[in-house]
Amino acid sequence: MQWLYRCPACGRTYPIEPGRYLCDHCAKEQRPDEPLRGVLECTWEGGNPEPGSVPLPVEERFFPPIPVGQTPLWAPERLRAELSMPNLWLKDDTCNPSGSYKDRASWLVAAFARKFGIKEIVLASTGNAASSMACIGAAAGIKIKVYVPKSAPIAKRVQILQYGAELIEVDGTYDLAFDQSLAYSNATGMLSRNTAYNPLTIEGKKTASFEIARDLAAGASRSAPRYLAPDHVFVPTGDGVIIAGVIRGFEDLVRLGWIDKMPTIWAAQAEGSSAIARALATGRFEAVPSNTIADSISVDIPRNGYFALDKLRRHSGRAVVVSDAEILEAQRYLSRASGLFAEPSSACAFAGFLKARAELDPNAQVVVMLTGSGLKDIKSAALGVGLKI
Ligand SMILES: *Cc1c(COP(=O)(O)O)cnc(C)c1O
Repeated sequence: MQWLYRCPACGRTYPIEPGRYLCDHCAKEQRPDEPLRGVLECTWEGGNPEPGSVPLPVEERFFPPIPVGQTPLWAPERLRAELSMPNLWLKDDTCNPSGSYKDRASWLVAAFARKFGIKEIVLASTGNAASSMACIGAAAGIKIKVYVPKSAPIAKRVQILQYGAELIEVDGTYDLAFDQSLAYSNATGMLSRNTAYNPLTIEGKKTASFEIARDLAAGASRSAPRYLAPDHVFVPTGDGVIIAGVIRGFEDLVRLGWIDKMPTIWAAQAEGSSAIARALATGRFEAVPSNTIADSISVDIPRNGYFALDKLRRHSGRAVVVSDAEILEAQRYLSRASGLFAEPSSACAFAGFLKARAELDPNAQVVVMLTGSGLKDIKSAALGVGLKI
């Protein structure tokens, strides 16, 4: 297999090597108040991987020794009964090493750094990407420098320092942190793990789709194929990298002939940060200051907006928008009726599923992606249960 980057907008290709982030041609038209232009996609030519493996652009031997992914797919019996949805599944990515889905991307970026002998990685984050990169960097022996808004939940900032990363607290939003971290990596040549900007952050996030399809097949009858596509997947969405990665995973499975259809992918967003849902309806992105309790999906400009929108449109993706009150309610309900305590962003996916449920076939195979642990943001969860802290 020969791996390369391809620009989905213009088709230009580039080698996968240090210093390459966006498409030179398409990134020229970038305006400051819109999603990134020229976001690159990984692809391969020549030959296919063995069934059972995931096609990835870095060889397995470079992956750091830390157990990322292979997370459980829960069959939540009480929820299934209460909601009359007998094929509801919860993909539990709260049990990744740093407690979030971001570890899947950090793992691939760290493997890339090891392959090329890179010793330092820098990134901006609302908290989870930074605590994730700090965690994986600790396992891999790579120095990590992170730019995070001062307002990020305390647990995420503590994690960053626990893992020994350098924390720069930015007096402003994630968007400012993004610009500052890029200024640093551009000036020093350090590897950037900024979400969407580094194409490996999208590619790394596709692995969950392979696990879901494999685990659904394992639950089906013996004569079933080794992979089975779900009907619907609900994905909490901020910058649009997780959702793009999840779609990429299912696209790969279709390309390989391992599944026979794409699932319907739902972008679940908070009312106070719903740029991708709005763009899906209007075709345009407007920069609107974000305001939601779900900090991990609170973005003014969704960095991967164009790329994610293109993928959603190509596969008839949907969007569902919920209020902060619905998020907190769903967070409590999910915890009580399943035993899975997820952070508000993840609860947004569950709230989105609850809202869209009336439109779904009751027998559909539905997967809700739970991307971060509830213990990462105790302040919001305390609000939900009426505890003063
Ligand atoms: C980052 C994150 C998301 C959203 O992912 P995007 O790629 O920004 O859309 C959702 N949930 C959690 C827990 C996250 O950390």
